[in-house]
Amino acid sequence: MMKVRRYLRGSGRVLAFVFVASVIWLLFDMAALRMSINDVNSQLVRERVIREKEIMMVKNQQHQLQHVGVTQAKRRGFKHPVQRVTRPGNIQQSPNLNLGHIYRHKLNPKFEVKQSNQRQEGHDFKGDNSKSALSNQNNRESFPKKKAVNLDLNVAVTSVTQVQPAVKTNKPVLKTELNKSAQFAHKPLKDKELKTDQKVEKDLNKNGLKVSHPTAEEAHPVKTISQQAPIKDVNRKEDVKPKINLQAGDNSSAVRKPGVHKVLSLDATHAPRDPNAVGQFGQPVILPGSKNAEVMKRWNEGHFNVYLSDQIPVDRAVPDTRPETCAQNLVHNDLPTTTVIFCFVDEVWSTLLRSVHSVLNRSPPHLLKEIILVDDASTKDYLKEQLDEYMSQFPRVRIIRLKERQGLIRARLAGAAVAKGKDVLTFLDSHIECNVGWLEPLLERVYLDRKKVPCPVIEVISDKDMSYLLVDNFQRGIFKWPLVFGWSPVPEDVIKKNNMKVTDPIRCPVMAGGLFSIDKKYFFELGAYDPGLDVWGGENMEISFKIWMCGGEIEIIPCSRVGHIFRGQNPYKFPKDRQKTVERNLARVAEVWLDEYKDLFYGHGYQHLLDRKVIDIGNLTEQIELRKKLKCKSFKWYLDNVFPDMDTPVVKAEGLVFNRGLRKCLALQKDSLSFEICDLSNQQFNYTWMKSIRHQDLCVAAQSTGSGFALVPCDNTKREFRWFYKTSNSALTEHLVSEFVPNHMCLEAEPRDDSVRLRPCQPSSVFQKWEFTRYHLQ
Ligand code: UDP
Ligand code: MN
Repeated sequence: MMKVRRYLRGSGRVLAFVFVASVIWLLFDMAALRMSINDVNSQLVRERVIREKEIMMVKNQQHQLQHVGVTQAKRRGFKHPVQRVTRPGNIQQSPNLNLGHIYRHKLNPKFEVKQSNQRQEGHDFKGDNSKSALSNQNNRESFPKKKAVNLDLNVAVTSVTQVQPAVKTNKPVLKTELNKSAQFAHKPLKDKELKTDQKVEKDLNKNGLKVSHPTAEEAHPVKTISQQAPIKDVNRKEDVKPKINLQAGDNSSAVRKPGVHKVLSLDATHAPRDPNAVGQFGQPVILPGSKNAEVMKRWNEGHFNVYLSDQIPVDRAVPDTRPETCAQNLVHNDLPTTTVIFCFVDEVWSTLLRSVHSVLNRSPPHLLKEIILVDDASTKDYLKEQLDEYMSQFPRVRIIRLKERQGLIRARLAGAAVAKGKDVLTFLDSHIECNVGWLEPLLERVYLDRKKVPCPVIEVISDKDMSYLLVDNFQRGIFKWPLVFGWSPVPEDVIKKNNMKVTDPIRCPVMAGGLFSIDKKYFFELGAYDPGLDVWGGENMEISFKIWMCGGEIEIIPCSRVGHIFRGQNPYKFPKDRQKTVERNLARVAEVWLDEYKDLFYGHGYQHLLDRKVIDIGNLTEQIELRKKLKCKSFKWYLDNVFPDMDTPVVKAEGLVFNRGLRKCLALQKDSLSFEICDLSNQQFNYTWMKSIRHQDLCVAAQSTGSGFALVPCDNTKREFRWFYKTSNSALTEHLVSEFVPNHMCLEAEPRDDSVRLRPCQPSSVFQKWEFTRYHLQ
């Protein structure tokens, strides 16, 4: 004890103090080091979380729409605002809602009288005894067989040229068959589409208009119908005539000047339409709880309420959701005709039929050249012979079958390849319902300019209660990185500046995918779809960029509306992994169309796609050649002109790179780096979306030895080029931390010789702190 006291006296005391102080200093230093390592680690974790979030965004593009509880589509990354259609158009404010108003273009005035308030709230399920419950089996047995054409798409799609026309059935529909089917909501409508032709033609002629006939090769059905006996409906005990509401025809003043007419608001259906049918007028149906088990049992067949869909008439009415003035719009009399192409794989029977009926019933027959159903190697039995039989009653409908599953992209191409119509192709999903007046406004746009690609407003058919929901005005399709599709309203200032009305076509940077019309020749001039895209996903981006960048325009036409069932999941199998398929498709699109912006795609969580050993995106030569041949504009042009509100900086940060400790700027010297007083020569660097520090084609790469670095040609696939920077507000936010070197090293300025080196990260070291002139970090 005495000895200790003696040591602490005089110079000994000083020595002891120095000793204790240095121990404390050492402890602090170690803590700082640990902190820096923790920081780097937590930064890495955070980085990973961000990346995973981004990937999740792509994976989970299904959301529940809060206010109506409707499933948001997978491919729709962000919300498509919808409303219940209780009051369409200018009737929206009416307190005494009447369903006759909902269905503005009434088919039969009697409906109006019969409306009940109950249906506005939700349709009570009537059970299997309901008059409108379907018994498809009965119907299916009533029709002569029609053989579909089998196509072998193992050969190139373009080689598919020989397809037999659909067998035309001249045989009149037997009364007994009709009687049998009349008790069901979904009825054979063979002659109806023919009669509609006649009626439209008559009405147009009445107004001095000429209707272009389908060619003789199609054996125009108008003639056939005149030989047929009137059809009796046993329920009504009166002649059943297809009822159409033909606005232009009803009123001779409809034609304002030669060459145009008021858009036809057709809705032909097998009359009388049963106003009490389940889901009629697109109203929601609330099933009793006792049906839950059955609903659940059948849900996965389509990832929507298949059980309920099967109860709803296949030709139900839906509310006319067009803005009020749409019905008054004029369109040209000599509009081009269209071939409608539905491709499907294992589609639910009732929704497939409802899709086809909605086209047959609500399209002016003289404009509907044909409907092609492309069966993408479905596995369900009912989609084979039964479907052939059912469709054989409609001379305009043809079925082609692909021997092997091709995916929706190549299936659509197969449909386009066999289309007999020469004018316009219209692609639709196989679970849609076209609304009244849907077709002419689309064709009008193509007529005005063959490079316009019009899309209808896609409305929502609830996957749960099958109601038809109206979407908000001024919505357009856009994308966010990494190429995630979504809906977003047109910016307020654009609406104001252009004095936009709710009926005006909306410029649409990206189409949703499934529903659009396009001039047939133009479609092929554009090289159609990239046939290298598999199954599903990315094709909407591909065709959208291609259209815009190669001289066309995509528009949403508010006066054309089509309901679509948005499903939470794809109900069909992907031949390969779903996520990998979609990622691969997107990478193809990025490589061909995004130019320098592809960094943004890969940099948002898709770095792994750059490793071609992991993912083979196939050959792109043809696509790249095509882009050159078409002399398409750059992706930058697209962003600046088509999607200017996107605000997409091509790099995260740029300019001079200032070192806080040295108070000098990073400079390029021969093939290495040093420091100089900041000026503007050789000192410009970018911090890219791939996290590289880049000067033209040269990038800073960390060496695996852990202390050195090299300035070498950039390579986005390699991790030695990636530096974390400004990834969080942690202590290392201004540090450039190598992602590659195992022990997390930071780029540091060496004051002794103005060189750059790699050192263990130290949060407080000013020599490890870097500042760029401009930041565009998102
Ligand atoms: N489809 C197809 N083959 C496939 C995948 C999809 O024919 O391999 C059809 C599908 O039946 C539907 C259309 O392509 O009619 C669009 O697919 P889906 O509805 O799943 O796309 P989403 O509406 O979810 O974007
Ligand atoms: Mn769909």
